[in-house]
Amino acid sequence: MYYRILRFDALWDTTQWITPAYVALDSKGLIAAVSTTPAYDQPAERIAGFALPGYHNAHSHAFQYAMAGLAEHLPTHALEDDFWTWREAMYRLALTVSPDAMEDIAAMLYAQMAACGYTSVAEFHYLHHDTNGHPYDNKAEMGQRLIAAASRAGIKITLIPTFYQRGGFGKPAQPQQRRFVSASVEDFFDLLESSRTAVSSADHARLGVAVHSLRAATTEDTRTIFSQADPTLIRHIHAAEQQKEVDDCLAHLGERPVAWLLRHLPLDARYHLIHATHILDDEARALAQSGAHVVLCPSTEGNLGDGFFPLRTFMEAGGRWSIGTDSHIGIDLCEELRWMDYVQRLRRQKRNRLCIHADQDSGQIALQHAIQNGRAANGHTAPPFAIGQPLDAVVYDAHHPLLAAAPSERRLSTIVYASDACARLGTLVNGQWIVHHRQHRHQDALRTAFLRTLRSLQA
Ligand SMILES: [Zn+2]
Repeated sequence: MYYRILRFDALWDTTQWITPAYVALDSKGLIAAVSTTPAYDQPAERIAGFALPGYHNAHSHAFQYAMAGLAEHLPTHALEDDFWTWREAMYRLALTVSPDAMEDIAAMLYAQMAACGYTSVAEFHYLHHDTNGHPYDNKAEMGQRLIAAASRAGIKITLIPTFYQRGGFGKPAQPQQRRFVSASVEDFFDLLESSRTAVSSADHARLGVAVHSLRAATTEDTRTIFSQADPTLIRHIHAAEQQKEVDDCLAHLGERPVAWLLRHLPLDARYHLIHATHILDDEARALAQSGAHVVLCPSTEGNLGDGFFPLRTFMEAGGRWSIGTDSHIGIDLCEELRWMDYVQRLRRQKRNRLCIHADQDSGQIALQHAIQNGRAANGHTAPPFAIGQPLDAVVYDAHHPLLAAAPSERRLSTIVYASDACARLGTLVNGQWIVHHRQHRHQDALRTAFLRTLRSLQA
């Protein structure tokens, strides 16, 4: 006998549809069996839905959710706006966020992510210190709050403490960056160890390591951190998001950022480069061949006016990418995927640009990259729905008219290109509904705390 058996109309494990799908669980929500036929004569809980592996968000700065939608007007007397002016507003926000506020903002954000089908988030975390720039008594205080927020929201977190020290190439950190800055590499490794302790006492948390970017650290420190950090940790770094960053890097280091990373770091599948927007075709191909992944953040990159990533060149060379929601101006994975694909279509005036070979399906390719590589970016190595793994899934409504009508071989593209929030039945984590019928199980409490926090920040 199993603890529970769930029966889905179908389940997609990123390689095939299992129709119908009986998923047997143990008491912890771990998968004991997956089959098309019922096990024993045990009754199954019937779910009229199509289950996909829970989405893994590959890049988040949770506190920035507090300003989503609030920076979409031109500042007084300004005639234009760009990434760098947005960044000043983000710094002002960062100086106001207390540990309590961080937890309330992140818990609401993560619950909204769960409503979009995410069951794990990679939190690229650099808001380490108090408002004076001094370490908290517990060096990992803010990371601990992010872990607590994920617990309140019911999702999993990969905490990625991030080294940050410089205010630009060859420039000291600015006063408004003081909460991000580690005094030294040794101090950062202390913070990383405190973060490891925080993570190890939480079942839903794991650890990664990051350097913010080549503009926020010296090349020597960047190399030291990645060479001395635990080799099993996933490694993240922002790269080449803005043309100015590439120009400054060329002037200061004599190389473009991604070219520098390719030449000076042992890039492999543990490395996840965030954005990599402004890269040459040769860099895109070399990056693909290195095995390193790219994390694309289409709604944030569009919102900030970053530029265009050469996706087709990267994919033709076998490059792997995942999706992050970064500033959280958008958090719906399918919206991210549509943005990413439609930019490619608009630029070339062609369709189905994700398909490298004939008879491929855009939705399938998009979801395979987002899910499989999103898992890698979160440090999850087991394949989805494997025996012994937790049942973490996003479930689409089998009664939705387009999903009910779509043949199974077109169902994934119907999900990606033609569905919205109404098509989602809910999200399961460890076999439990965290979100059901668009309602998070702790929605009211999370919302109340979030609104209280936002009002005090805005005051
Ligand atoms: Zn970022």
